Amino acid sequence: MLNNQGRPTAAGEATASAHPTFTGNKALQVEEALLFEIGRAEVTGVDLDEPEAVKSRLGGLERKGAIGLVGLSEPETMRHFVRLSQKNYGIDTGLFPLGSCTMKHNPRLNEKMARLPGFGDIHPLQPQSTVQGGLELISELARYLMVLTGTSAVTMSPKAGAHGELAGMMAIKAAIEAKGEGAKRNVVLVPESAHGTNPATAALIGFVVKSVPARDDGTVHVEDVKALLGPDVAAIMLTNPNTCGIFEPQVVEIAKAMHDAGAYFYCDGANFNAIVGKAKPGDLGIDAMHINLHKTFSTPHGGGGPGAGPVVLSERLAPFAPLPFIRKEGEKLVMVEDASDAGSAQPFGRVTAFHGQMGMFTRALAYMLSHGADGMKQASEDAVLSANYIRAGLSDLMSIPFPDHPSMHEALFDDEWLKDTGVTTLDFAKAMIDEGYHPMTMYFPLVVHGAMLIEPTESESRASLDLFIMALRDLAMAAKKGDTARFSGAPYHAPRRRLDETRAARTPILKWTPPAPAQAAE
Ligand SMILES: *Cc1c(COP(=O)(O)O)cnc(C)c1O
Repeated sequence: MLNNQGRPTAAGEATASAHPTFTGNKALQVEEALLFEIGRAEVTGVDLDEPEAVKSRLGGLERKGAIGLVGLSEPETMRHFVRLSQKNYGIDTGLFPLGSCTMKHNPRLNEKMARLPGFGDIHPLQPQSTVQGGLELISELARYLMVLTGTSAVTMSPKAGAHGELAGMMAIKAAIEAKGEGAKRNVVLVPESAHGTNPATAALIGFVVKSVPARDDGTVHVEDVKALLGPDVAAIMLTNPNTCGIFEPQVVEIAKAMHDAGAYFYCDGANFNAIVGKAKPGDLGIDAMHINLHKTFSTPHGGGGPGAGPVVLSERLAPFAPLPFIRKEGEKLVMVEDASDAGSAQPFGRVTAFHGQMGMFTRALAYMLSHGADGMKQASEDAVLSANYIRAGLSDLMSIPFPDHPSMHEALFDDEWLKDTGVTTLDFAKAMIDEGYHPMTMYFPLVVHGAMLIEPTESESRASLDLFIMALRDLAMAAKKGDTARFSGAPYHAPRRRLDETRAARTPILKWTPPAPAQAAE
């Protein structure tokens, strides 16, 4: 039985939790127990024939007792998983304003294309002659990525943005080693505002990370970079547009400074959605940049996978791209799997077993083809317009840390405006859940106190943006009026209330243990 204390509301309106229900359900929001709690070992939803008796070849290692896995009937199975799926909030449910994540609509057309048997049912170990269409799809997508970024090489196999960072930085490392500078160039510069994966990637492959201080206006100053440059610097990892939602005004000067110092420019391209069709990172002087297909090209985010993070490379880095890659030989497309077949290239190795995420490639190409060049450009323009619309709609109530720079694809607020209200960024985010919104990105980037990073993307209609703005305005005014009760216990209407997220992350309970047998009633 849930024991939610209800929040007192205006006009005597009873909250849902003021009347605890017998079942624990809240109207049609059904409480769902774990499979282990509701399942029974003797029940199954399938009806299989008894297996034929065979002579065991397990040499005495056969299972002795029952395995004890629980089962459900078919309708129970269906309900269990449908109910669980209904507890999920996704981009198909509503506005998903996570900044730095680009949660955009995943068109159903892409799903349909990815399920075509010729793409969906092929196997990575099939003879290459039987998957020429699949290879053509990969190389066509690769070509579009090079056109959109203004680069001449791309490695398709990395399976996420962070994985792409690793591949790109390993290519940089290989290039430095090929020049015989491996021992001396061991420093990577990372701005304070960077995504955590940047310093983690550099450190993982043995670089020493040096932090570039953030300027008061949220951008990186070329002079601050130059002050750190020396013969020991291998590269900079710079995000553009950056994690404050600002296009780095000195990105070209920074690229030049790096190159003049014999170092490389790794660009974190997670925010490419803001500039597709408008600016080519290759023209800005990047040497390597990952593209999160699951952010910019509308493929689904998948809880750590399957994403896709192809990395475009400058001519200087192209020879060091990892295996495998596709080469055209006459009319045939060949997936080069072995360094001995790589010709003059010097691949640093490989980052994944096969060629990358075929399903994501198919979806991304479907997105590109259905939008066309003009459509992709418009998507970027609309994403930027939506972010600035939200910024303008809230800027009289909520404080903006960098008012002098227009926002690109995401609007960044700090918690200055919440000072003395007794409401924190976390409280505000939790109250958004009561209003039916997934919270925005909180407390990131770290350089902004109590950051709230909102990225609406191009997916939202004007009406949807207006409702979102009105809901946030209502919350902001409540906070300023001192209605702390609306925030301190929020969310009030969610199936679960305020959770101890730190403890959940630090000491997760990963194993279900049966509850102790119930005490006999007195
Ligand atoms: C999302 C993101 C990453 C990491 O990408 P994944 O695909 O989640 O691994 C890196 N940098 C920035 C700025 C991001 O937003």
